[in-house]
Parts: sequence; C-alpha cells; structure tokens
Amino acid sequence: MNALPQHPPAIRTTCPYCGVGCGVLAKPDGRGGAVIAADPAHPANLGRLCSKGSALGDTLSLEGRLLHPMRQQADGTLARIAWDTALKSVARGFQQVIARDGPGAVAFYLSGQLLTEDYYVANKLMKGFIGSANVDTNSRLCMASSVAGHRRAFGADTVPGTYEDIDGADLIVLVGSNAAWCHPVLYQRMVANKRARGARIVVIDPRRTATADESDLFLAIAPGTDTALFCGLLCDLARHGAHDLAYINSHTRDFAQALARATEIAGTPAATAKATGLAVEDVETFFAWFRTTPRVLTGFSQGVNQSAQGTDKVNAIINCHLATGRIGKPGMGPFSLTGQPNAMGGREVGGLANQLAAHMNFTPAEIDRVGRFWAAPSVATHEGLKAVAMFEAIERGEIKALWVMATNPAVSLPRAGAMRDALRRLEVFVVSENVLSNDTVEAGAQILLPAAAWGEKDGTVTNSERRMSRQRPFLPPPGQAQPDWWIVCEVAKRMGFAAAFSYGSVADVFREHAALSGFENAGTRDFDIGGLARISDDAYHALDPVQWPVRPDGVTSEARFFAEGGFFTPDRKARFVAPEPPQPTTPTDAFPFILNTGRIRDQWHTMTRTGMSPRLGVHLPEPFVAVSPTDASAAGLTDGGFARVTTAHGACVLKVSCNDGQSRGALFAPIHWSGATSSSGRIGALVSPKTDPYSGQPDSKATPAAIAPVTFASRGFVLARRKVTLPEGAWWARVAVLGGHGLLFAADLTVEAWRDCAVRWFGPRAEIAEYLDAGRGNLRLAAYVDGRLQGCIFVGPPDSAPQWDAVKALFEAEAIADGPRRTLLSGHSSDGIEDAGPVICACFGVGLNVIRRAIVSEALTSAEDIGKALRAGTNCGSCLPELRKIVQARVPA
Ligand code: SF4
Repeated sequence: MNALPQHPPAIRTTCPYCGVGCGVLAKPDGRGGAVIAADPAHPANLGRLCSKGSALGDTLSLEGRLLHPMRQQADGTLARIAWDTALKSVARGFQQVIARDGPGAVAFYLSGQLLTEDYYVANKLMKGFIGSANVDTNSRLCMASSVAGHRRAFGADTVPGTYEDIDGADLIVLVGSNAAWCHPVLYQRMVANKRARGARIVVIDPRRTATADESDLFLAIAPGTDTALFCGLLCDLARHGAHDLAYINSHTRDFAQALARATEIAGTPAATAKATGLAVEDVETFFAWFRTTPRVLTGFSQGVNQSAQGTDKVNAIINCHLATGRIGKPGMGPFSLTGQPNAMGGREVGGLANQLAAHMNFTPAEIDRVGRFWAAPSVATHEGLKAVAMFEAIERGEIKALWVMATNPAVSLPRAGAMRDALRRLEVFVVSENVLSNDTVEAGAQILLPAAAWGEKDGTVTNSERRMSRQRPFLPPPGQAQPDWWIVCEVAKRMGFAAAFSYGSVADVFREHAALSGFENAGTRDFDIGGLARISDDAYHALDPVQWPVRPDGVTSEARFFAEGGFFTPDRKARFVAPEPPQPTTPTDAFPFILNTGRIRDQWHTMTRTGMSPRLGVHLPEPFVAVSPTDASAAGLTDGGFARVTTAHGACVLKVSCNDGQSRGALFAPIHWSGATSSSGRIGALVSPKTDPYSGQPDSKATPAAIAPVTFASRGFVLARRKVTLPEGAWWARVAVLGGHGLLFAADLTVEAWRDCAVRWFGPRAEIAEYLDAGRGNLRLAAYVDGRLQGCIFVGPPDSAPQWDAVKALFEAEAIADGPRRTLLSGHSSDGIEDAGPVICACFGVGLNVIRRAIVSEALTSAEDIGKALRAGTNCGSCLPELRKIVQARVPA
C-alpha cells in the first residue's frame, strides 16, 4: 500500500468486497488508476485494509471491460448496439413474456455488489410494477439463514450489535467463520482485543483454519452439529441457573419449549460431546467460559449459514443470548458476519424474494402500504422464488426471461454446470456487467448492458453493523458504461412506468428509499432511515458513515437493539425457537468424503476483479482441494499432485494440498475459480442443491464426494505478453502477472509437443533460446522479439514442476539486461539469489523462502520479528497467522 500524497485530498469511498465495509481513500493518478489507502476516520476499519482492499488499485484496468451495449448475433458473436436499442429490446422482451405467460415467468437475479440505490429501483420495478416477487440475489448463497433466524427470533432482520462490541467483549466465540481470511479487518480487531484486554477467543469449526491460530479453545466440531452444541449450552446455562429469568420473562416467549427441545438434543455435556464429536472436557470448558463471562459475543458466518439446517443453527445461537439477556449491550450479543459488501443494503430494500421492501413482508397491510407509497399498480402479493428455486424454474422452462445484474450465477450456484446449461434455454437473457466475458455471459446472454464499476459508481452500501457508507466515484465511467440504477430506470420507463422511475439523480433514489423506510413506521419496524428522507444533494454527497436506524424524530442513531426488549413481533417479545435435531449429511459408499467449499484469503467471489491483481494471485494461484494427510495417503494422493473430486453433480480436477487442519473424511475446496480462470476448477458445479427449508440457502458446505489421484506426464508454466490457449485436455489455471499473462499447467504432452506450441504462440519473428532434455522431460524456452522477452515456457516432469517466481520477476521487468537474459533459462535470478518462493505477505510481496532464510540468518523468533525485519504482516495483518505457523515450524519451542 502506498502512502498518499498530502494534497489534494483523496476521495472517501468504501471497499467493494466483504461485509466489513472498510473505508477507503482513493486518489486518482491521472492515468486511469488510483492510489489506495485505508480511511483512518471510517469506524469500520479505523485505518486498516486487508490484502484485497489494499490491492484495489490493481483492479482498475479497462482490459476486458464491457464498454458498450451488445447484442448476441445469430452466429453467437456479440455486436455493439445503441443504448436506446438495448433498453427497448430488454423492455420489449420482458413485456412480451409477461403478456403471454404472466409476471411469474420473469425474474431478476441481483447481487450483494449492487449499491442500495441500484437494488432499490430493481426491487421496485419487479415487485411494484411488474407484479412478481421473483427478484433474488447472490446474498441468498451467503447469509439468508441469518436473515431467517433473525426474523424468527426478533420479528425482523435486525443485527443487534455493533463492531465496538468486538473491542469490548471478554469472550469472542466464532462459529463457522474463518474470519482471519474472510473478515480480516474485524479479525485483527478481535486479536487486538485479546492482546490489549485479554479477551478469550473460541473457534468452532470442523476445519482448523488460520482463524484458530489465535484461539484459546478450538472446537473441531463434527460438520452440521452446531445446533447440538448450542442446545447443550442452553441446557448448561439453565442447569447452573446462569440464565436471566427477568429478561426471559419480560422480553421473550417460548423458553420452556426451546429448553425442552434442547434437552432432547443434547441435555448434558456428555450428550453434547457425543452429538458433536468433541471431547467432553472441551465442551465443559466452553460452557463454563460462556456461563461465567457476561460480555460474550458470538460471531457466525458461512459455516453456519450455508447449511440445510442453517436457520436452526442461527436460532440455537440466538437462544443462548436471549436466555442470558446478553444482547444489545456493549461487548455482547449474537453477530452475523455478513459476507458481501452490500448484502445488508439488499436486505433493506427487499432484494430477497421473501421480503417486500424496507423490511416489510407480504402481509395485506404491508402490501397495501408499499403500494400506496409507490403508487404502484400491481404490487406482488406473495413471496417469489428464492435463488436455487428460481434457477430450477428456469431449468424447467417456467421462467422464460431473466435479468442478471453484477453477479456470475453460472459459477456460484449449486449444480453450476446444470444451471449454466439452463441459462441457454431462456427466451430473454439480459446481463448487466462490468466485464465482456465471464461464465454467465458465455452461457448465452442475448443483451449485455455495460454497468459502471467500483470507482465509477455513486451510492451507498450497508455493512454488517448496519452502517451505511458512501461509495463515491473517483474515475469517469469508461465507454458507454452507466450506473445500474440508471439502466433499470431507463428500462422501466420503456415498459410504461416513467412516472415512477424518472429520478433526477442517485440522491433522489436514496431519498425515496429513506422515505419508504419511515413511511407509517413510528418505531414499529427496525429499518427506519426516515430521518434522511429530506437530505439535500450536498449532504448526501458528504454523508459520513452512519448506522441505522436514523429515525425522523431526531434520534439519529441507536447503536444497539434489544437491551430492553422491544422486539419487532406483534407483542414486542422475542421468540425462542425449538430447533430440529441436527441431521448432518452423511457420506456414502460411492461418495465417502464430505466436500466443504469456501473462500481463500486473497480472492473475492469469481475473481473477475481480484483476479486482475498480480499480488493477489501469488498466494494461492491454483484451484486446490485440501485433504487430511492421512486421507491423502490412504487415497494415494501426493501433496502438490492432482486429484479428481467427484460428486453426484459434477467433477473437478484440483491440486492436492495436504493440510493438518482438515478432519478425516473432509475435503475443502475454494469457490473462486471459473471457466475463465481454470480448466477444471468450477467447484460450484459439484455442490448439492439441497437448501434450508426456511432460508432457501444452499448446503454449500456438505456435499458427499469422492477423491482419486490424477497423473499428468508433464507440468509447468507459460508467461506470455498476449493470452495463449493451451491444447485441448490440458489442465490449467490463469494467474495475473505484470506485463502479460501467466498460466500454470499440467498435461499428458511431451516436451517436444510443448515446444511446438511455444513456437506457434510466439510467432515466426521470435528469436528462441531454449534448453530441451527430452530424456528427463525438461524444456525451458524463452522467445524474444527485438530484444524484448515475449514469453517463455518451462516444462518438467510432474514430480519436479519448475518454479516460476524468479522467471516471473524477470518477465515482469520491462527490459532484461544481458546477464539476466543469460540466466533466465536456469530458472534462477541472475544475481545468484535464490527464489523468493510463494508469496506469503501479499501487501509487501514477501515470499516463503525469504522469510525462512531471515528466520535462520537473523534469528527471528516471532511474527513480530519477521515484521520488523521484512515488513511482512505489518500492513493488513492477513498473513500473520501464516507467519506464526512458519516461525513455529522453524523455531524449536
Ligand atoms: S476486510 Fe478487506 S475485503 Fe473486507 S471490506 Fe475491509 S478491506 Fe475490503
């Protein structure tokens, strides 16, 4: 991360990745890029950014951008069309389907990457004017179970606490959350609390992740049994009289039923240990810590939400906080760590198919209220189809027109291969996008609408603690790109709804959204920003990050909810929920493993943005499957080799990563790779479509799977100034590198065949320098044109794949001097220094080999020592858990 110049001031905006919602300062460099720094004044991050946020400046390139409206031609190619033609085509296409098949035959699929204003108008068009609630979002895959759990317990989708509770908690319980990688800035706040105040951290996860490295207690719970653990805890609290009867009696209902069910599921520590696969001593320790620590914060994330029983898991956690009255007070409460940057904003406007708008539901009174506010002719009267059901309806041909905005469902949905095929059956298929090509676009999008990207967009997002922040533009939209809200409104006008969609500015949209939230509210609904309904244009543009509610009565912000009850149920009491007994997915003879999917430290979603950053590509550059060393040995797998992972829905070939943190019988694979970035890494294609009955969220963490070794004859890498295409059948992963393109590959090809490929790629003008040893299966070839390195290919036998770090450094240099040119084919740097090794610290580009050498040569004994010597880990802190592991492995206790 570079230091910002003092003058002129940078633009204050918000990171577009995870739900932490960090404030960012962006200063345009005048060449289409920007210098990025953390905003020290933003309450979410207080001057920190993680590796992804720090690398935002690397992702502003226009390469691959969709710059103009496009239409698919009869031959499948895309041709540029005028905006008006595109908008009319979309409007006409939807109108024709609605006229023939009714509003239930059309759908919008939105995204947690949209801004609140974009979301608001899309929801208004579909639910108010088209008359269908078939508008859902990729947030369904992320935190829908938290929404459903909140609504069952609190009567509304309310996050009771605030990030300050992380700083003030004495016990932080993380359930199903690899916060160290997925919410790094919040995780660093937790660690800071531990260091400064001695807060204890309990990590509950089937997988021992980087998050567990700072834990005081790690509970390697059996997959799918979290409900049993928290039922056991509820019983323990009651047995020891640690529940708060006054709070329970005054502010809640149904405690007895929940306790009775909990007793059936896990009535004692021994029963809990049996149900969860944990040691009874560990269970008792956790229970005792929770029981005796008033300030306890329970953070939960995708490991809880992405489950066929995710809503029950959420309610089992909330039950324990309601039972102790530990909610809505400083340092305590249940806390949903949201995955996406604006999942919360989407929930505010009704971006989910089972909400109407502004946290209102499909009751007759609320349908009437929203209809009157919008002056809408045909407000949807019942819930629409949630994401998985929506795409299954497309598969059956029941939904015939779909508009996808800012997301890549052909990669991210369960059964992603079948879903990609289903998209081809659509009669009308519209995609609003930043990029010209991704798996969803390639699935046959007929109309492509160029949307403004981060850095160009203007609006608001809401983070996990209900804090609304401005995303401000600091670059002009390129080509003919337009904001999403503008695109939706222009289509709405062409569908005959001009009166309701003629906003003069994005601030107009925000004011209407705020007014709806306060309309006939009077404290009956949690989401109320009516106090901002008359905000001036200037005040909107200058708006500081603010938590909702911002009620019209002048009370600007209540930091927390429910300390004194006041839930949003008819009787204002919370509901204890009696969860169903856990029914974890079990392996079968054909599929003896359970496949868990999730995120890695330096990538975001399907890599359409983070995949552009060379420094983010160095940490884990290939799609992989993590497997326990014991399972790997039994299955004949080798660390660093390849394996085919198969489920009932598809198969992928992935690099094997033997990992002590994996439990026996469990596999983990990241979600990020797509058909655009890998030959065989689309993990969504393997995931079960089983969903939670309340939230509709898919069970993305538990698909029965099989794993078997795969061997290739050769393995290597290509670095090239222009994109090259590998031969059919090759395994490959595309990696961003400075000054060109990188591919890591493996294939059943001889070195002679690879040489032929290279000569074809680099052209007849290229001067070739090469070393070929057919007997040993080694090829090192570099191609120069006019003295400039155009590309190189290194191939070796599969058990000694060539390393690319030193060669990549030479490739990335603009011009190579004679010395390095001579030594390039050695695979080592010209100054005789060994390879830096795989990068551990993405912020400062510090490699594993450099760290290991410094540990030895400078007698470093801690991650902090490494920071002082090499700067690694001193910016975002995302790599600190790995630094500690490295130092522990090298330094005897
Ligand atoms: S933690 Fe990282 S990815 Fe998340 S908002 Fe902050 S900088 Fe962005």
